[in-house]
Amino acid sequence: VSEPRFAILGSGSKANAYIFEAEGQSFIIDNGFSALECLRRMHDLDFRPERVKFILLTHVHSDHIRGLARLSRKLSCPVYIHKELNPAPHTKVAFYKTGRLTPGEKISLDGVEIIPFDVYHDAPSPLGFTFRTGGLNFTLITDTGKLNEEMFKYAYHSNILLLESNYSPEMLDTGPYPEILRQRIRGDEGHLSNFDAGQFTDALLRKKAEIRRIYYCHLSENNNTPETAEREITSRFDGSVPFRICRRSEPVEGELS
Ligand SMILES: [Zn+2]
Ligand SMILES: [Zn+2]
Repeated sequence: VSEPRFAILGSGSKANAYIFEAEGQSFIIDNGFSALECLRRMHDLDFRPERVKFILLTHVHSDHIRGLARLSRKLSCPVYIHKELNPAPHTKVAFYKTGRLTPGEKISLDGVEIIPFDVYHDAPSPLGFTFRTGGLNFTLITDTGKLNEEMFKYAYHSNILLLESNYSPEMLDTGPYPEILRQRIRGDEGHLSNFDAGQFTDALLRKKAEIRRIYYCHLSENNNTPETAEREITSRFDGSVPFRICRRSEPVEGELS
């Protein structure tokens, strides 16, 4: 059994895409890049397009869906989405095929066991994902205004946690955004702050979660910097588990330990 591989092909408020591979098969979560840019990033990290079996979609904001349909057609891959989501208004091109997901219900796709779960975000039927591939558990939580017990449970049982750390409250308050947009970001259906991310991690590790490594991702273009994120996260979390702050748009090759 070969170890899984994964990469954050890019994250941030402009474009997000993730890839996970085990046993010569891979899948993608989201694609906010053009299909060609996503393929280029995969190529740079040696992920082969013919190995991709399916694509999962968290939600329809453009930083997650922009090049997703074209990618699904190029790769002849089905796209799995929330069962109540109508993707048509959000994509110019139809998906190659569409599969349906029910939050809280486990689904097995090409050997990957996935549980989609509800998140709190101002998009129709948004999802987070926890899954097991190549003998390891992963949880991805981004684009949510709040965290809950269910997310805690999934994160707790994960080896690798990919967690949003979108904004610095101070940078948001003093930054260029109009108040209405600030309220949206801060709100219960907005995004997680650096402190939210740090606190959640701290609570997990205090309870001796099995997490080996944490990736803080989806940093805001205007209301965060990697340095500020690191300072604010580690003001809540002691850094006792290796972690990485994903710079906006930078491809990051995952490490397993
Ligand atoms: Zn987003
Ligand atoms: Zn979003």
